[in-house]
Amino acid sequence: MKDLKCAMKVCVYNKGYCCCADEIKVGTDSKCHTYTIDQSKKDDVMFEIGMDQTKPDYSVNTKVDCIAPCIFQKHDKCHAIGITVLAAEKDAECATFILK
Ligand code: SF4
Repeated sequence: MKDLKCAMKVCVYNKGYCCCADEIKVGTDSKCHTYTIDQSKKDDVMFEIGMDQTKPDYSVNTKVDCIAPCIFQKHDKCHAIGITVLAAEKDAECATFILK
């Protein structure tokens, strides 16, 4: 999946709101379990606002394994054209999730 936008900027796999992981795993809770906090980014997040205005696309073809009870999930894979992952308080949550 090329169109994987993610707001979890403190994740090691996040680059310019794109997910650069080769593969992510979304759990039954519709959360991204591949999310890994990058301590060095934690302090930088406030200073990236200017760069985001150019909106470059860093997307890679990320494989999305998913076991959430979602209408886009078939045989433990996500079949949506694209997904958006939002930054919740402590987790990264799939915002494209629609309960079956
Ligand atoms: S939280 Fe998940 S979807 Fe977002 S950049 Fe990290 S691995 Fe990718």
